[in-house]
Amino acid sequence: MSISRRTFFKSFVLGVTTTVATSTLANVTQPAKWDQTCDVLIVGAGAAGLFAAVSAKENGAKSVVLLEKAASPFLNSTSLSAGSVNATGTKAQFQNGVEDRGNTAEFAKEVEKTGKGIADPRLVKIFAENSSKALDWLTDHGVVFTPQPNAAFRLKRMHGCDKHTGAQYIDTLFKNAKEIGVDVKLNTKVVELITNKEADEVLGVKAVSKGKETYIRATNGVIIATGGFCGDVNMIDKYIMDFRGALTFSSANSQGDGLKMATKIGAASTHMNYAAVYAYGVPMSKDKNNRKGWIFRGHVMNLYGPITVGPDGKRFVNDDLGATSISQAMSHKGFNKVFQIATEAQLLDFMKNDPIQVIGWDQNTFKKELEEQKVFVVKADTIAELAKKMGLPVAEVEATVKRYNEFVKNGKDEDFDRKYMKGTFEKGPYYGFIGQPIAGISLGGLKVDKNLNVLDVYDKPIKHLFAAGEAIGGIHGGSYIGGNSVGSSLTLGLVAGKNAAKSK
Ligand SMILES: Cc1cc2nc3c(=O)[nH]c(=O)nc-3n(C[C@H](O)[C@H](O)[C@H](O)COP(=O)(O)OP(=O)(O)OC[C@H]3O[C@@H](n4cnc5c(N)ncnc54)[C@H](O)[C@@H]3O)c2cc1C
Repeated sequence: MSISRRTFFKSFVLGVTTTVATSTLANVTQPAKWDQTCDVLIVGAGAAGLFAAVSAKENGAKSVVLLEKAASPFLNSTSLSAGSVNATGTKAQFQNGVEDRGNTAEFAKEVEKTGKGIADPRLVKIFAENSSKALDWLTDHGVVFTPQPNAAFRLKRMHGCDKHTGAQYIDTLFKNAKEIGVDVKLNTKVVELITNKEADEVLGVKAVSKGKETYIRATNGVIIATGGFCGDVNMIDKYIMDFRGALTFSSANSQGDGLKMATKIGAASTHMNYAAVYAYGVPMSKDKNNRKGWIFRGHVMNLYGPITVGPDGKRFVNDDLGATSISQAMSHKGFNKVFQIATEAQLLDFMKNDPIQVIGWDQNTFKKELEEQKVFVVKADTIAELAKKMGLPVAEVEATVKRYNEFVKNGKDEDFDRKYMKGTFEKGPYYGFIGQPIAGISLGGLKVDKNLNVLDVYDKPIKHLFAAGEAIGGIHGGSYIGGNSVGSSLTLGLVAGKNAAKSK
């Protein structure tokens, strides 16, 4: 009996002999009858899935089905996001006087650099070459983008949208998908990918809606756009080893469903140990088993001058770095908490200039917390009292602050060379913010090729299986910068939809 390489692999991992007939594998059990047939089927109605659906239709697919497990398309990470998107050569840039046409290679280099040299260059290239198509499509459908600076880019390549939320993209794409005849089914969870007997081609999916099973055949392809896995804290503990026990800020629907279903049929994954982990997480509940959290924008407040110390009371990082770099420094030190110290003047400056202090909190909640000091803030008139309230070694914190004050006066941070030294810590009152790691955007996921075709463990494409968005791994490499995730989800969704529509 001849046996395919994938069949061998599956038999091996299942711990059974290689003579097992392929037809006994659960996922190749085809239904006696398909309930529906379409050209392209998409799993998940986030940025990637909705754009894939619209793009598949625009690229000639006659029937496109989009299955979403939630009751609404607004219950995903895209909708929770601030909607910052990175792109190059967009109409919005041109209209705002940023001449950025013809710079895709430079943009790709910048994205790769932020990925610490381990981003997949093929995926970054797709992102760079198609990002303007995705954003221009949204511009043509009413979204107003404003180019913004970001330290990662030479030009203003980060774009904010006029409603300041990723829900704006969902709204625009969802309305268009309905208008052009995409068959959107909410409350419909895909639970299995159905393959041919050799398990090297995906034929369709099994889904469950209100307790009823349904089998849908997709002749051109299935696109996995189920988002990331950081909504499942067990997956954080399993894969993001450096941050086991971290809080999560992901959508609860980001459970890695697509990753689990595809690996079950032999798909490969990549970059699984990387996620965007912020240093200044705040638990939502006192119950330690509830790991939902908020993100305090301590990394932004740092730009107004505060300092951050570890449990030993010493500075350990250049405070100007982004939140994910600070969390990486924490992990190298083995810290599970950080302690940020601000003068009242620095805090007021931050509050005046940055209206979003805690993602998920309104202004009143934040002000109430400052007054009541219940969740993560403590206030004191002296540094010693503040250190005591935060449970830090008082003498160490005092010595750290004294040394830092000298740096400010001399205009040079001799320990970490930070630039944003705004004021000494000689005049109270002082505020202390206690943060802990919080993960929310997985950077690892399914391994795909340059056509966004999902690969098996031998790097062979699984026919008719595509993936895009946070469900894939490799595009960010080992580090995340704001704007790359929604940006690449929209863009690669658009490309995956086109590729699936054209797939034979
Ligand atoms: C609070 C927050 C702020 C963020 N801010 C930014 C930002 O400003 N800029 C940036 O670039 N990135 C940001 N991100 C990350 C970014 O939002 C996501 O990485 C990106 O939007 C993912 O898009 P997606 O389409 O892949 O997944 P999602 O938007 O998560 O959509 C996936 C969809 O698939 C559905 N689904 C899952 N499993 C199944 C199944 N089995 N069957 C059917 N449907 C299923 C889910 O319900 C969901 O609707 C932020 C993330 C969060 C949580």
